[in-house]
Amino acid sequence: MSSAPKTPWHALPEPDLLGLLEADQAQGLTPAQVQDRQQRFGRNLLAPRLGHGPLLRFLLQFHQALVYILLAAAAVKAGLGAWIDASVIFGVVLLNAIIGFIQEGKALGALAALARALTTEATVLREGAKQRIDATDLVPGDIVLLASGDKVPADLRLLQCRNLRIDESALTGESVPVEKAVGAQAFDTALAERANMSYSSTLVTYGTATGVVTSTGEHTEIGRISELIASAEALATPLTRKIASFSRLLLYAILALAALTFAVGLWHGNPPVDLFMVAVALAVAMIPEGLPAVLTITLAIGVTRMARRHAIIRHLPAVETLGSTTVICSDKTGTLTRNEMTVRQLWVAGLDVTVDGVGYAPQGRLLRDGQAFDATANATLRELLLAGLLCNDAVLKQGAEGWKIEGDPTEGALLVAAHKAGLEIAPTQAVQPRLDAIPFESEHQYMATLHEGSPRVVYLKGAVEQVLARCTGLLDADGHNIPLDLAAVHAQVEAMAGQGLRVLAFARATVAPDQRSIDHADVANGLQFLGLQGMIDPPREEAVRAVQACRGAGIRVKMITGDHAATAAAIASQIGLGEDTPTGRLVSALSGRELEGLSDEQLRSAAADTAVFARVTPEQKLRLVQALQARGEVVAMTGDGVNDAPALRRADIGVAMGINGTEVSKEAADMVLTDDNFATIAAAVEEGRGVFDNLVKFITWILPTNAGQGLVIIVAVVLAQPLPLLPVQALWINMTTAVLLGLALAFEPREPGIMRRPPRRPDTPIISTELLLRIALVGTLLLVGSFALFEWALHRGSSEAQARTIAVNVFAVGQSFYLLNCRSLRLSMFKLGVLSNPWIWVGIGAMMTVQLLFTYLPAMNLLFHTAPIGWTDWLHITLVGLLIYLIVGAEKAWRRRRELRR
Ligand code: ATP
Repeated sequence: MSSAPKTPWHALPEPDLLGLLEADQAQGLTPAQVQDRQQRFGRNLLAPRLGHGPLLRFLLQFHQALVYILLAAAAVKAGLGAWIDASVIFGVVLLNAIIGFIQEGKALGALAALARALTTEATVLREGAKQRIDATDLVPGDIVLLASGDKVPADLRLLQCRNLRIDESALTGESVPVEKAVGAQAFDTALAERANMSYSSTLVTYGTATGVVTSTGEHTEIGRISELIASAEALATPLTRKIASFSRLLLYAILALAALTFAVGLWHGNPPVDLFMVAVALAVAMIPEGLPAVLTITLAIGVTRMARRHAIIRHLPAVETLGSTTVICSDKTGTLTRNEMTVRQLWVAGLDVTVDGVGYAPQGRLLRDGQAFDATANATLRELLLAGLLCNDAVLKQGAEGWKIEGDPTEGALLVAAHKAGLEIAPTQAVQPRLDAIPFESEHQYMATLHEGSPRVVYLKGAVEQVLARCTGLLDADGHNIPLDLAAVHAQVEAMAGQGLRVLAFARATVAPDQRSIDHADVANGLQFLGLQGMIDPPREEAVRAVQACRGAGIRVKMITGDHAATAAAIASQIGLGEDTPTGRLVSALSGRELEGLSDEQLRSAAADTAVFARVTPEQKLRLVQALQARGEVVAMTGDGVNDAPALRRADIGVAMGINGTEVSKEAADMVLTDDNFATIAAAVEEGRGVFDNLVKFITWILPTNAGQGLVIIVAVVLAQPLPLLPVQALWINMTTAVLLGLALAFEPREPGIMRRPPRRPDTPIISTELLLRIALVGTLLLVGSFALFEWALHRGSSEAQARTIAVNVFAVGQSFYLLNCRSLRLSMFKLGVLSNPWIWVGIGAMMTVQLLFTYLPAMNLLFHTAPIGWTDWLHITLVGLLIYLIVGAEKAWRRRRELRR
C-alpha cells in the first residue's frame, strides 16, 4: 500500500483504489491494520503553526515607541560617557522584552490549548461495525461515513453519495457548496473539480456519503497549504484595538508635552543635554508601557476561567462581547431541557393510553383509565408503536450504569415505549428489515423508512404539521380507514403539547413490492395517519436558575425552537421565561408561520416582545438576530444544525453545542459549550463581565499613576527645581509596578452582585468622565505627596539622592495603596474580602522587597542613583499612601451613595 503524496486518487477505478489502500468497503479495517497504519502514518493531525516564530515574537517586543525613545536616551547617555545609566536603560529594555515575551507566550499557549480541546469526531466502519472515533485516530484505508453537518476528517475518495454537497471554502475559497458524485475522473482534473473526492477540513452542508481515507494529517491537501491553516488566534479584541489607538494618541500628547517641557527648560536657561534627559524621563514616566501586556493576560485568564466552566471561546473578542450581552436566544431541546425523553402518552383516534416508568429502562406499563392495557391487542396502537420502533436510528443498550441510548434521545424514547408495550426491538427489526431511509433533518422535520415485507411499507414520523400535510386517511382504534379529521387531531395535539409534551406524529403507506428506495417525493402525499406519541423532556434545573440570574442581570432570554408552539410555551413557563403578570406568568409565543407574514418593522417589535419562537426555520433565526440587533441589542444565539451557521455568524455571540452540535455549527460559532447547557452561557456572561471589570480596573489603576509621575517632572521643570525622578528611576518604577502590582488585578475574582447590574453598553467609552476625574485626583495626590516629601527632605538637608529615593518610594507605596482601591470600581476592599485575591498581597510584598533593595543595596544605589533613607521617611511615605487610600475610598463611597440615590 502506498500513500505517496502524488497518487492520483481521483483517477483510479474503484477496485484499484481499494486494492492500493488495502481497504474493505463492506467491513472496514481490522484493529491490527489500524494499529499498524497508525505506526506507519502517524496521527491524523496538523502540527500547530503559531503566527510568528519565537525569535520574531521576541524581536517584536522591541518594536514599541517607548523602547525607541529609551534606546535613543541610552545612546545619548553612552555618547556622554554615562555608561552606567546607558547599561541600566539597556538592561531594563531587555528585561521588559523578556517578561513581555514570556507573558505573551503563556497567553498564546492557553489559547492554543483550548483550540486543541475541541476535537472532531468521525464515524467509521471497522470490523463491520459503525463506530464514532476521534478523528485523529483515522488512518488511510479507513471507511468513513459522512452526514450533513460533519467536518470532513481526512482526504477521502467517495464510494457512495446521496445528495452530497460540500462547502470547500476552507480549501478553494469558493463559498458555494459543490455537488459530489462517485466514479473515477480524468487524471488532469483540477482539485476544485474533483467531484469524487472530499478533502479534510471542508464541511458537509447536505446529504450523506461513504468514502475511503486516502491521506491523513500533513499529507492531506489542507496540510500542504500551510498558510491557510488557522494559526493561533490574533490576540486582538475591540478593546485592545481601542486601547492601542488611545495609546498612540497618548504617545503624541506625551511627546508634545516633552517638547514643551524642553522649551520651558531652555527658557529657564538649562543646558539642552539635561533637558533632553528631562524630556526622556517625562516620556518614560507617562507612557503606560504595561498596558497592552496586562490586557492580553487578563483576556487569556478570562478564557481559561470560561473553559473551566465548560465554555470554549473560539474568538477572543467574544470574551468582551459576552459582558455586554442583552439578549440570549436559546434552543430548547438539550439546552434548556435535559434531552432525556420518556414517552408518556399514546393516542390513536378513539384510544388514549398513558405509559409509566422512568428513564430509558424499558420497564413500565401501559395504562388506560388507570388499568393495565395490552397495547399489542389493538392493531392500530401496535402499528403506531411499530412505526416508532422501525423508523428509528437509535440503539438501546444495557450497560454497567443501566440503560442508555446511542443516538437521538427522541428516537430512544420511542424504542423504550415499544419495548414497554411488548415489542422486542431486535427481533421486530429483523422481521421487517430496512431497505432505505430519508434521514431526519430539522429543515424537513420528518424521517421516513422503507421496509421489506408483504406488502412493503413506508413509515414516517415527524412534526405533526408535516405528517398531517402528507396524509389523506386515518386508521382509527377499531382498524377502520376513515377520512382524516384535522380539527380533532389538532385539538389532541394542543391538549398534549399544553402539558409540555413533545408530540410526534406517525403515518404509513404501502408501496409497490419492487420498490427499493424512497425519496421525499414518495412520501409527499397519500399516507395513512396512525396517531401520536407524546414525550416529556424535563427542564434542566440549573437552566431555571440561570434564567433567573439572567433576569436579574438585565438579560432577556428567548426560546427559539423547532418544536410545537404549545409544547415550547409550556416548557418556557416551567423554566421561568416570559413576563410575570398579576394573573400569573405570561409566555408570549409566535410560530414560524406567523413570523413569515411579518414585515421587517413588525418583526423588530415582535422579536423584542416575544419570549418563545416555535417551529422556526434557520432562515428565520437569522432574521430574528438581525431584528434584535436593529433594536440595538447585543445578541447571543445558540445553534446546532448545519443551517444555523449564518445565524451563528451574524449573532454577536454565536454559541454552538459541543456534544450534539454539528461540526459546521462549531466552525461558525464564537463559543462552544462542552456540556450543551444553557447555564453555561449564563456562566460565560458572568465571567465576561468579570474580565471586563478587571480590564477597566487595571486601566483605572495605571493611568493615574502614570499621570502622577509625569506631573512631578513637569512641575519641577516649571518651578525650576531639581527633578524628583531621574529617567532611570521613572523607568524602574514603571516597570516594577506594572508587573508586580498591576498584574495582580487580572486575578481579581468576580465581584459580588456582578449579575445584578444591567449589561454594559458596548458604546460606553472606557475613559469615562468618572475615570478622568479619578486620574486628576490620584495624579494630583501622588504629585503633591512626592513633591512635598522631596522638597521637605532637601529642605532638611538630605542629599538629592535621598530625596529622590523618598520620591520614588512615595510612588511605590502610593501605587500599592491605590491598588487596594482599584480591586473594585464600586465596593471597598472590606466588602470584597481582604484576602479574596491573595495575589494583591503577594504583589505588594514583592514590591516592598524590591523597594528595600532599591533603597539599601549599594549596587542598586550605584545603578539607580539612590541612597538609604531613615525610618521617619518611611513613616511619612506610608502616611501619604494611606491618605491616598482613604481619599479615594471616600470618593468611591460618595459615588456609591449617589448611584443608590438615583
Ligand atoms: P430545538 O430547536 O429547541 O432543539 P427540536 O429538537 O424540537 O427543538 P428540531 O430538532 O428542529 O427541534 O425538531 C423539529 C421537530 O421535528 C420536532 O419538534 C419534532 O416534532 C420533529 N423531530 C425531532 N426529532 C425527530 C426525529 N428524529 N425524527 C422525526 N421527527 C423528529
